Amino acid sequence: MPAEGAVSTERAAPDRRGAEAAAPPSTGGVNRPPVGGADLTQAERDRILAKAALFAPPPATLPDGRRDLIGLSREELEAEMVAIGEKPFRARQLWHWIYHQGERDFARMPTIAKPMQAKLAERFAVGRPEVAADQLSADTTRKFLFRFSDGQQVETVYIPDLHEERGAVCISTQVGCTLSCRFCHTGTQKLVRNLGAAEIVGQFMAARDAYGEWPSPKDGTPRLLSNIVVMGMGEPLYNYENTAKALRIIMDHEGIGLSRRRITLSTSGVVPMMDRCGAELQVNLAVSLHAVTDELRDEIVPLNRKYPIAELIAACRRYPGASNARRITFEYVMLRGVNDSEAEAHELVRLIKGIPAKVNLIPFNPWPGAPYQASKPEQVKRFAEIVMQAGYSSPIRRPRGRDILAACGQLKTESERARKARVA
Ligand code: SAH
Ligand code: SF4
Repeated sequence: MPAEGAVSTERAAPDRRGAEAAAPPSTGGVNRPPVGGADLTQAERDRILAKAALFAPPPATLPDGRRDLIGLSREELEAEMVAIGEKPFRARQLWHWIYHQGERDFARMPTIAKPMQAKLAERFAVGRPEVAADQLSADTTRKFLFRFSDGQQVETVYIPDLHEERGAVCISTQVGCTLSCRFCHTGTQKLVRNLGAAEIVGQFMAARDAYGEWPSPKDGTPRLLSNIVVMGMGEPLYNYENTAKALRIIMDHEGIGLSRRRITLSTSGVVPMMDRCGAELQVNLAVSLHAVTDELRDEIVPLNRKYPIAELIAACRRYPGASNARRITFEYVMLRGVNDSEAEAHELVRLIKGIPAKVNLIPFNPWPGAPYQASKPEQVKRFAEIVMQAGYSSPIRRPRGRDILAACGQLKTESERARKARVA
């Protein structure tokens, strides 16, 4: 449940739930790593990955013992073919049927001979998450509640463009989140577990099913589900391996073939993994900044205690491929009287000086028990003007799907961590 009462003026305990968040409160102060990277080592990345493994998804096997082929890399799919005595090139055919055509039934894959179709059907399945709920907002935003084989659930949102035939699918990477950002509904839900690659890809594929968008449109032709924003439930860089694997599958040219330029991953600032994401995936990066001083950011984005603003901005400066054509998005949720002053707007542009960036101002989306109020529209405008005058585009995000709690920061499911779950 959300924290009781109004916003605390004290420093909250770094991690209100004891999982992955901020550094322990040392001798009364905030335990900050030195700026410049002592903590940005492989060891730190290994620690994050080891923790992620504690929340690993269940194996992708159906109750009848068949293996779900969704979520396997090309190499793994080849290995599965070899393991059943087939030639590795079969994997390429399957890949085409599964990810390009969207076919789930082996019997409808005519380039595969009948006996092999039967053999595949005995051992494998092409899965999807179950649609547990499907809600349509008055503004055409559509929210899916997807249920996975172990009963865990996440929300996925499709946000159609209001003017053109395209739209973004907002996908989740975790059931719950370990990071208790104060303004975020998901942050009030404990981390139950990470999603597997199959479950991440599966959200996009199931959303495409709902619109019948198969086969995958060719590069350059319009798509209804044209973009992906990794901005749903959870912190993608705390589930890096599965998220990266899923995005590679989605980007593969012989399958879904969505360009990395159409994918934006949002992080609350897991600095060591930002470097890896930049080196390996080169998708667009969005950074949830939300405050311009460590004092405030420590409070509203508790991960800041571990990776403070200077570290975060330095990682943005290092992010490969950042250019005017591929700008980093800084997300800034406008909280009335908390982070929305003109002085803060000036400090924001000072902080990001020199980074090819845009600043996305997000009106705060309320949820039951939320401890903040949205900034007044005039204040948001003033803030936006200051940012714009400094040469940065500063769009004010139009809230979508609020009537069905589908807007940014409103997602939450009933999934609870089982009593005996492995807690870090
Ligand atoms: N964990 C990642 C991605 C998911 S949150 C991250 O934090 O970046 C996606 C975006 O929604 C983030 O920028 C987040 O700060 C923002 N957000 C969270 N709660 C919100 C709320 N109540 N109103 C508006 N935006 C919110
Ligand atoms: Fe987690 Fe992002 Fe919400 Fe913070 S804003 S609690 S990191 S989902």
